[in-house]
Amino acid sequence: MQKYYICPECRGHLMVGEYIILAARNQREERGILLLHPEIGNYSSIKHPTFKYATGDPIDFYCPMCQYYLQSRFDKNLVHVILVDMDEKEYDVYFSRIAGEKSTYQVSDNSTVTSTGEDSHRYTYFRIPEELKKYLQK
Ligand SMILES: [Zn+2]
Repeated sequence: MQKYYICPECRGHLMVGEYIILAARNQREERGILLLHPEIGNYSSIKHPTFKYATGDPIDFYCPMCQYYLQSRFDKNLVHVILVDMDEKEYDVYFSRIAGEKSTYQVSDNSTVTSTGEDSHRYTYFRIPEELKKYLQK
């Protein structure tokens, strides 16, 4: 099996065909569907032209199956999904919900973090040593 993405809440498959499919809502409370490229570090996306947002706008992302709000527990601007690789190993993947911001983090179960994207320095949570994270509010 190829690698795939699932919802952290319902564990339903988010990847169909070549893209991750997420429900989204813009700042004007309009809803739309976004297709995101599954390759980490590739920020190309597809949407219908009537669903509009500007660079720098925060976008709310939801699971298209269970409507779970895919916000990370520790930063409201990071979206959380689960990546399952070819060996069925799971990773937490976080990416920015700010349109145009390029930052993605892949975290393995032993807390190894791989940061990708020219804006990945913005989210300093991932540079905090693991032993201190337990003191932060989850
Ligand atoms: Zn779900």
